[in-house]
Amino acid sequence: MPKRLVIASSNRGKLAEFSTLLGAGDIAFVPQGELGVVDVEETGLSFIENALLKARHAARATGLPALGDDSGLCVDVLRGAPGLYSARYAGGHGDAAANIAKLLDALKDVPDHDRSARFCCVLVVLRHAEDPQPLIAEGVWEGRILAAPRGSGGFGYDPVFLDPELGLNAAELDPALKNRISHRGRALAALRDRIGSMLPK
Ligand code: IMP
Repeated sequence: MPKRLVIASSNRGKLAEFSTLLGAGDIAFVPQGELGVVDVEETGLSFIENALLKARHAARATGLPALGDDSGLCVDVLRGAPGLYSARYAGGHGDAAANIAKLLDALKDVPDHDRSARFCCVLVVLRHAEDPQPLIAEGVWEGRILAAPRGSGGFGYDPVFLDPELGLNAAELDPALKNRISHRGRALAALRDRIGSMLPK
């Protein structure tokens, strides 16, 4: 019998990414929706708080170990905004074009050297809802915000997020490369080796 782990997300893109990148051997990843669990309200004030809220909610509702995640874009000159509110920065949830327009407007007078930013992703695994010792993994991807969108791949803020080392923005990267170097890819890699041994047999 594989160990079951509930994924505390209803986002199909993330579910696919999680099971591809974590899908080793004896763990079965079960989306919370399959067990009738709906998204919890994200009332935390940091990525880690929200990731914990999501994992705890799914673990409590199902009685199974659970994985929660939260991610977003933090721009230094904006004191970390859009941060937790990355998905709904311009109002409507997930309107990427409006979010990018608002971000570029907020940075319109900011010179290149002050446009540093990073994508952050926090993943949390709880053995059960009262687990006092969650497994926590964080991934960050350092970059800079461009003055105008470029590229056609990716999603969200990818068209304006430049990886200065590669000289390409996230929307110009091959998806496999993006998965390897992104905040989510790095957090998943950090989790991968530790997750199997922490889950109950
Ligand atoms: P959440 O993690 O589902 O709460 O969503 C975070 C939001 O941050 C997304 O809706 C995007 O706006 C942004 N975001 C997170 N990861 C990425 C990424 O890899 N590329 C572009 N935008 C991202």
